Amino acid sequence: MLIIGRKIRNLVGWPALHLAAASDRCVDCGKCSETCPMSLDVRGMVREGRMEDAECILCGGCVDTCPEGAVGYAWKEGA
Ligand code: SF4
Ligand code: SF4
Repeated sequence: MLIIGRKIRNLVGWPALHLAAASDRCVDCGKCSETCPMSLDVRGMVREGRMEDAECILCGGCVDTCPEGAVGYAWKEGA
């Protein structure tokens, strides 16, 4: 349902909470990827600065786990 909701939201262009990365802070420890309940390659996403993934459920696990504060939340307009 969350994934469908995200697709609809993007179609309509509503502002939405999403993940934001500060790639320069990442020390490549991999804790974010280990924590992700959706088994996403969060470390790779951070390194590439590409945090949008349709399977991300915005649980915040990676945000809470990152010891360097390299992952956070931000609002952005829907695409
Ligand atoms: S937990 Fe933070 S520092 Fe570690 S790999 Fe993930 S983003 Fe980088
Ligand atoms: S918010 Fe949760 S589901 Fe999304 S990338 Fe981070 S740990 Fe994975």
